[in-house]
Amino acid sequence: MPRIAVIGGGIAGVTLAWRLCESIRGTAVHLFTGEPYRRTDASAASGGLTRGFEPDPDLCMEASASLAELQSDPVLRAWAGYRETGSVYLMPALGRDTAELVDAVRRRVPDSVELLDAERLAARGAFRDLPEGSVAVVERRAGYVSPNALRDRLLVEIARSGALVIDGRIESVTREGEVRPVGGPPARFDVVVVAAGAWTRTLLARTGLPDGGLRTKTIQYVLTPSGPGGAGAFVDETTGLYGRPYADGRALLGLPTDRWDVPPGRAPADPALTARVLDVARARLGYVPPAGKAAAVTAVAAVECYHATGALSLRPLVPGVYTFTGGSGGAGKTVLAASRTAARSLARSLR
Ligand SMILES: Cc1cc2nc3c(=O)[nH]c(=O)nc-3n(C[C@H](O)[C@H](O)[C@H](O)COP(=O)(O)OP(=O)(O)OC[C@H]3O[C@@H](n4cnc5c(N)ncnc54)[C@H](O)[C@@H]3O)c2cc1C
Repeated sequence: MPRIAVIGGGIAGVTLAWRLCESIRGTAVHLFTGEPYRRTDASAASGGLTRGFEPDPDLCMEASASLAELQSDPVLRAWAGYRETGSVYLMPALGRDTAELVDAVRRRVPDSVELLDAERLAARGAFRDLPEGSVAVVERRAGYVSPNALRDRLLVEIARSGALVIDGRIESVTREGEVRPVGGPPARFDVVVVAAGAWTRTLLARTGLPDGGLRTKTIQYVLTPSGPGGAGAFVDETTGLYGRPYADGRALLGLPTDRWDVPPGRAPADPALTARVLDVARARLGYVPPAGKAAAVTAVAAVECYHATGALSLRPLVPGVYTFTGGSGGAGKTVLAASRTAARSLARSLR
């Protein structure tokens, strides 16, 4: 019986292992989750913004296929803690492919998406002082999920399906497909997939394996004591601001960072970035924290794995050894489709 090892207990590794259990019968799947009780991974920190539209055509196909699967499956929606807040993706101008991509999202998720100019978006109330010529892709059937909750639920499903779920870190992986757990006996596999997110590079480097161009970068957002209201989940490319409603009337708001090549795990928050987020939120959304509550703004920062393509996908390193990482701040919305594609490709490789 062929043996597959998936290394990494984040949303990428867990969803891939779940797909493998569903799609490859007669295969022994072993999932090595890392340290589940001290999670400092991207999946635990993720904002979970989920929509069908992305300006990059490949990412748009993955995001809309993932959203279509979520929309068609109430069980998956419950497992993922899906909240339908609507989504706005604001761009400085109409891109060359935008109209076609909007049509592609429309085909996969009907009655959801429309393209608005700045004037029509501003008339809806949430956004202000929009740059002339800017356009927005507005989705009704989109919002956010909890990658953390989905991963926890899928871990139960994987164990139920008879696959082995093994807690604890992997020390190294060899070119020959040998997996060496910390403090445990090594084991040989026909296929090894390293899905250890921001830790992937270091793990591969221990045995001189190439990493295919992976990098790490900090992502930081703030949780505010109240919300701007009405914006739903949004990305504003004209300022970089993104956000969504959070529990108890609060909001999650963020701006991109430029902190590259940092060690994996929880990251120190940058107070200057927190201040910038509040400045931009005031200008774009008219949001100001209530008087006396500015101290209740808290920052969350964690490290993510990036790849030049921006996509979570299966990448061969040497025969039988792959990575499945590189979500680049967006795998929460693409992981369902990306894991399906990856599992199919692994099934073909084992035939
Ligand atoms: C702050 C933040 C906000 C985000 N917001 C969004 C968003 O709004 N929408 C969206 O679509 N995406 C978002 N993302 C991106 C998305 O959450 C990530 O792409 C996704 O969670 C990455 O999952 P992963 O499984 O690749 O990595 P991780 O979640 O980092 O998981 C890697 C796992 O590997 C394990 N591991 C590490 N080393 C080893 C080892 N040696 N042996 C075994 N296991 C090991 C770790 O314990 C960990 O569980 C965000 C990311 C961050 C950091």
